[in-house]
Formats: sequence, structure tokens, C-alpha cells
Amino acid sequence: MHLSKRSLQIQPSATMKTSAQAKQMIADGIDVINLGIGEPDFETPQYIEDAAINAIKAGKASFYTPAAGLMPLRQAVADQTNSDYGLDLSATNVAVTTGAKMALYATFQTILDPGDEVLLPDPYWVSYSEQIKLADGVPVPVATGNSFKATPAQLEEKRTAHTRALVLNSPQNPTGVIYDKDELVALKTWADEHDVIVVTDDIYGNLTYNGETFTSIAQLSDHLSDNLIIINGASKTYSMTGWRMGYVIATEATISKISAFLSHATGNPTAVSQYAFLAALKGEEGEANAVAKMHDAFEERLNTIFPLVNALPGFDMPTKPQGAFYLFPDISEALKLTGIATTAEFVSRILDEAHVALVDGNAFGVDKHLRISYATDLASLKKAVDRLSKFMDQNI
Ligand code: PLP
Repeated sequence: MHLSKRSLQIQPSATMKTSAQAKQMIADGIDVINLGIGEPDFETPQYIEDAAINAIKAGKASFYTPAAGLMPLRQAVADQTNSDYGLDLSATNVAVTTGAKMALYATFQTILDPGDEVLLPDPYWVSYSEQIKLADGVPVPVATGNSFKATPAQLEEKRTAHTRALVLNSPQNPTGVIYDKDELVALKTWADEHDVIVVTDDIYGNLTYNGETFTSIAQLSDHLSDNLIIINGASKTYSMTGWRMGYVIATEATISKISAFLSHATGNPTAVSQYAFLAALKGEEGEANAVAKMHDAFEERLNTIFPLVNALPGFDMPTKPQGAFYLFPDISEALKLTGIATTAEFVSRILDEAHVALVDGNAFGVDKHLRISYATDLASLKKAVDRLSKFMDQNI
């Protein structure tokens, strides 16, 4: 069959591919530890599941909803964001989507013309570049060096007459770095000066550890500027990956276009998930404890596994991640020590021989790194590090 040029240029999500491979090995009876996927291992908190069940029983989940989501949910997202960011948003500034992934997809479809360039500080999340290409845009990686954070000078070097947008992700997948307020002020000044739209993906904003705090670039002003788009969702904070609940926040005019796009793309985000997400956002104090417990578990895992991975021969992480739930060690030395030629081969041999699934840093635009997700239980994490340690011993 004829396949479009568009489909031929798209690569499958590397993280989902690795995870599928690991899941297949597990199904074949192989004891693989899957540290490949960015998915919390906790079941969604009970009060959220109960709200979904109640919505079904009350017959509310049976019908289409507005394309951009139920009004009370859009209002709840606006209220939460106003309280977190000090903004003055209304429900009409919010479109609820089928995961943050669809929020990003709808955004790129809405803001990009063919040939428009989007700056992506590296390392960057796998789907940004593919989604930009699907919108006929051009992803432009920006090398950030060891800090993993872009400066105005680095962005300026890549800016052309076609630069339309910059994607910021903080806390960042895959490095866990967070931009501080001064860094964000500098980026905002640069973006404002050059009329560049900032798409800020704040999906890990609630997952910061060891006293670190997160500031969104959206907090630098008390109203939403025309050149700012906020992406967020329920997957990571509430352990709701399967429910597919995300959202995009922008000016009313932009949201009405995004909503028009969504009305043709998804019709509406799944109704039952919207009732679940509404309950998540409205969680009372006791219920919110369930969310705090998951956060604390991630913090304990980071604090346990970070020194262990850093102690593996040839694995180097000069700074401790501040948020999200990933480690992104530099493995240049490990490659030299083992004589393994490429990062891809290193990751593939670890899966085959040590039965630990990891992701090649090249999926995020950076070679000689790999991503380790610590969104799994401590015992499995320790076992995985033991296996990596044995793998290194056997191959040095
Ligand atoms: N943005 C980043 C940086 C992510 O890591 C992810 C998921 O891994 C998403 C967005 C999409 O999340 P979801 O579609 O589950 O809401």
C-alpha cells in the first residue's frame, strides 16, 4: 500500500518501543526489570477510582462531552493553576485533552505553519520532535552541554527568521533538572524580544525532591501572555497514565482554535476519565495524602538509587536530579571500559544479558547517555543496579 511521506518520516516512540520489547520478554517468561518507561508504578488513588465508578453508575460516562472537556473540569484546572501560578485564568483558557501528549499535538497543529522552526533544548522528550514534524514544522535541537539547560545565547545561535516556538520542559525528562527563576527570566526576556512562543511542559511540576522547588515560566507574570502555552496533565502527579488526561492552557482565542482541532481529532477526551480527573483535582486533604505518599516514595527511590548508579564503573552524573523520576548518566567511560561501540548496542546488550530495560539517550537527542526510570519499587531498583554492576564486571 502507498504510505504517505509524513508517515514514513515518523519513528515509533523509542521509550514505548523499549517498554514493549521488555514486556514481550516478560511475557516469554524472562525476568526483565523494566526501567524503560516513564510510568508511575502505583495504582491510581482509591478516591479517584471511586469517582470514576460513581460517574459510570450515575450514567454520566455514557455521552459525548464538549470537545475541550466538561466545563467544571476546565474550571477546576483553571482554579488549580491560578492557585499554583498566581494567574487569572478562566475555564475558557483551558482545553482538556487525551493526555498531555494530545495537548502538545493539538498545540503544534494549531501554532505551526509548514517550515516553522521549533527550538528544542537537548535532551528533549521523544515525542516533541516527531509531533513537530507531523505538523510540517522543523524541530531544531539546541545543544545545552553539561547543564542540560538552555541559555539565551544558545537559543540565539539557532534562531532564524522561521523560529516560531521554544519548548521548555522543567522538571525535565530525562535529566530531572529544573530551571531556576533567574534562568527563566532570561529566557522570557529573550523570547519576548524575538516574539517566540514558549510552550512550557510542566507535567513533572509536582515531582520535585529534597527541598527543591519548581517555578514555571508562566509564574513570571500575573496574566497569561499571548506568547505562552502551558501543558500539563494527570499522568505523573496522580499516577493516572492509563486514564489519558492532559490539558493545554493558552489565551481564549488560541484555545478556541485548539478546541476546533480537537473536535475533529478526538471528539472529546473520554468522559469517565474526566470525572476521575475532576475528583483528583478536588481531592480533600486526606485524599491528597495518597498523592503525597507517591511523591515521597519517588524521593526515597531517588536518594537510594542515585549514589548506587553513580558508583557503577563508567557511569557519571555530576549533579543529582531535582525532579521528575529519571536518571540520565553519561556512559562515555562505560563504553570505553567495555569496548562496546555504541550506546544502542550497550542498551541492547544490557537488556539481553542483564535483563534490565533502559532507554538509549539518542532517543532524547543526546548520545553516550542512557535513561533510567526510577518509577518502580525499591527492591526492583536495587536488583537492577546489581545486575548492571555484574554486567560491567563481566565486560570490563
Ligand atoms: N511530556 C513529558 C515531558 C513526558 O515525559 C510525558 C510522558 O512521558 C508527557 C508529556 C505525556 O504524558 P501523558 O500523555 O501521559 O499525559
